[in-house]
Amino acid sequence: MDLSEAALQIVAASHAIEARGWAPATSGNYSVRLDETRIAITASGCSKATLSPEDVVEVDMLGRALGEGRPSAETLLHVTAYGLDASIGAIVHTHSVANTVLGRLLEGERYVELSGYELLKAVPGVTTHSTRIVLPIFENTQNLSALAAALRAAWISLDWGDAGPSGYLIRGHGLYTWGADLASALNALEAFEFLLTCEIEIRRSRV
Ligand SMILES: [Zn+2]
Repeated sequence: MDLSEAALQIVAASHAIEARGWAPATSGNYSVRLDETRIAITASGCSKATLSPEDVVEVDMLGRALGEGRPSAETLLHVTAYGLDASIGAIVHTHSVANTVLGRLLEGERYVELSGYELLKAVPGVTTHSTRIVLPIFENTQNLSALAAALRAAWISLDWGDAGPSGYLIRGHGLYTWGADLASALNALEAFEFLLTCEIEIRRSRV
């Protein structure tokens, strides 16, 4: 895929995510793999409500800008996941109320386990509700190298459930998820935002 096509896809995705209220202020970032050596990603600090194709920049697999524009501050987390799994074609990161609150409700816990939900089938690689998906929760830090190291370690050592790594939370910060392409990543995002909201409601009803 070339940069201009990826930019159009990312702009459409950004506006869809904005309409759901999942990327307030200038938060959130989205990327698409262009080939083995390059990705397209949203630029740093731009409003996702008014995102335009010029706000999408090209970087190498170390996160270094290849052209105009400054890539998202969280580019390292994108290139780390692309490097860990060659089947990942797109990554989305949101700061919704649900994904922020659940990480804080589970203070001290290192993961959230999702099982028994029909909507789990929207997650890539899942074909039945009778499945188990684990989203690790990493502690928030502005040290992105430390977060990338935590992701690499978890990728190898964590039991991610039946479908393998499909996303993670950063506590009090947001959610990362991905797919083979942007449509599939958005599907996973919608599913996780719904399921994390369900987890909050379940906990609220127990109080
Ligand atoms: Zn973020």
